[in-house]
Amino acid sequence: VLLKDIDTAFRQDDDRTVAHGVDVLVRDGRIVEVGEGLSGGDVVDCSDRVALPGLINCHTHTPNLLTRGYSDDRRLFPWLDANEAVIAAADREHKRAAARISAVRMLETGTTACNDMWNTYLADDLAATGIRAFLGHAMAAFDDTDPGVVEEGLDHAERFVEGYRDHRTVHPTVPVHSTYRATERLVRDAHGIAARHDVPFHVHVSETREGNERCLDRRGLTPTAWLDDCGALDRRGVLAHCVHLTDDDRERIRESDAGVAHCPSANLKLGSGVADVPAMDGVPVGLGTDSAASNNDLNLFREARTAALVHKRADPAAITAGRVLDMATREAAAVLGVADELGSIEAGKRADLVLLDAGDPTLCPHHGDAGLLSNLVYSFHGHAETVIVDGEVVVDDGSALAGIDDAVEIVQAFCDGVGGRPGRPG
Ligand SMILES: [Zn+2]
Repeated sequence: VLLKDIDTAFRQDDDRTVAHGVDVLVRDGRIVEVGEGLSGGDVVDCSDRVALPGLINCHTHTPNLLTRGYSDDRRLFPWLDANEAVIAAADREHKRAAARISAVRMLETGTTACNDMWNTYLADDLAATGIRAFLGHAMAAFDDTDPGVVEEGLDHAERFVEGYRDHRTVHPTVPVHSTYRATERLVRDAHGIAARHDVPFHVHVSETREGNERCLDRRGLTPTAWLDDCGALDRRGVLAHCVHLTDDDRERIRESDAGVAHCPSANLKLGSGVADVPAMDGVPVGLGTDSAASNNDLNLFREARTAALVHKRADPAAITAGRVLDMATREAAAVLGVADELGSIEAGKRADLVLLDAGDPTLCPHHGDAGLLSNLVYSFHGHAETVIVDGEVVVDDGSALAGIDDAVEIVQAFCDGVGGRPGRPG
């Protein structure tokens, strides 16, 4: 594919180059050249398009679409209990259908990659939608969990990493649900797998004050300090939320080179608080929507707007539009340990690209490149015209090529069944 004569390309390279009238040549899943007057490949006229590197959603749970709007306006733990009771009634067919819908909604709003904390059986469904999925077998263990069950989970996690490590668009990770649902043994062994295979170690950290207190009560340490104590804090860490960190926690994260997945909408909605991103100097921070049950949207452009706004309480420059675009692209790639492969429009990188309509009413008018960047963050509704993942067109004319009509029916039929059950929260 040759993307010809792009009106404006936010390349998100080290210099944050904004190019005009530029061509991008894609071959075998990679960007092979960026420049003017290029030839070769099937030409796509991009003279009325804005190009971005595909956005990267650093934290989500795709099957949780099943409980979108089910138990809103509650705090994390009661919300989680209510949601999990419903999810427990779903079978894999429902969860796989929900995952496909979530993936398509992300693709159609310019997200080309997501870091999904759920289970490995989603791999083929996510791959079929065309999205790039960082995925693993999410493990949890309590003190009284049968060691055999933990062992089985770890074996499964490792087999998945080995089986998918060379996949084009499925990138194995090792997720542990959270510090409040983990034993030291689980954290050490799961992190050991991540370290051995050099893949991301994905975990919820300090999402709520209550979660922090549970950890302090049980272990006398904050979640971050406990992970560090377990030898599980290093550059492979993808720490979701990080709302309630101490100065010492931030210092440990900075020194370990771990990354943070910032999910401001979900944190606001559940009343969890606001992660102090401006205080996380030197820590790579990516944006995450969290799930369609806690957000309730999967649109990373809307998340970018929230992220830019929520830190401005006293200082409007606390987090700028440019920083937020970084957090959705190049910085997110760093969080997931793939800065060499994703996050910018540069020769040699994987061809994950998004093309927007330059005449979209929510992008117009604009005052130069800086104005257009501002519009992308503050006014754009997120509709992508064309989305390319690993060199393949997966969204054309604003619609994903992967059909999900059957999935929508399956999920709605499930929700109709839940709605009639007693015990639904008021
Ligand atoms: Zn989460």
